[in-house]
Amino acid sequence: MIEPLLRVTGLVAGYGRIEALHGVDLVVNTSEVVCLIGRNGAGKSTLLKSIAGLVRPRRGQILLDGREIGGWPVQRRARAGVATVPEGRHVFAPLSVHDNLLLGGRGQPAGMLAASLDDVYTRFPRLAGRRRQAAGTLSGGEQQMLAIGRALMAGPELILLDEPSLGLAPRVMAEVAEIISALAGAETGVLLVEQNAEVAFRVARRGYLLERGRISASGPTRVLRGNARVREAYLSKD
Ligand code: ATP
Repeated sequence: MIEPLLRVTGLVAGYGRIEALHGVDLVVNTSEVVCLIGRNGAGKSTLLKSIAGLVRPRRGQILLDGREIGGWPVQRRARAGVATVPEGRHVFAPLSVHDNLLLGGRGQPAGMLAASLDDVYTRFPRLAGRRRQAAGTLSGGEQQMLAIGRALMAGPELILLDEPSLGLAPRVMAEVAEIISALAGAETGVLLVEQNAEVAFRVARRGYLLERGRISASGPTRVLRGNARVREAYLSKD
């Protein structure tokens, strides 16, 4: 049997006495963008953090290419191909665009580093034109591109994106959505967390609805769009 890129089964996780995830099952294959939608506090970030290694699962499994990574520290998961683009972007403001990207590629052999830089600058011409600019002076959309570019520098298999549309103007949001659509490739899959279901449905073909720490609906986004719970909660119009 061919294992999916990511398989999460029965995941239970939380903080102290708070249990935020109560048994989550989810799959991401290579070449696909999968969205995870849900309201504030549903547990979306906790799920991403559990996959990245920032929150330790209490029960359940996290398999990357069929290997159980649930007990691995963050750095080991990163080396195995898990990259996170955190909510709020978190670029290093005083550093240049170029130096931010180099930080994302640290540990890579020089040849690969150059190829990764080329790849990122080709994908994001706006960053290429601003290599020497301090990251903190970029626009919100450009900072989001830089955060994604930095994650790409490690040559990841699985890209975890936390609320990339947050705080972006609609026009910029559309641009970032296109970039995300292009991230999934022959050896890469994307898990996109979004509160904005419209953005999520525009870029993902499959998705999950997380409600209070449980998956309450899943499937192709064209089906999810019509799901009564999704419509009620997230889509303002018919
Ligand atoms: P948002 O869209 O607002 O980021 P979310 O769906 O990502 O929400 P989480 O951040 O995963 O939700 O939070 C899930 C639950 O866990 C919430 O009840 C939250 O208060 C709680 N929680 C999150 N982080 C912590 C923490 N560090 N300590 C204690 N409780 C936390």
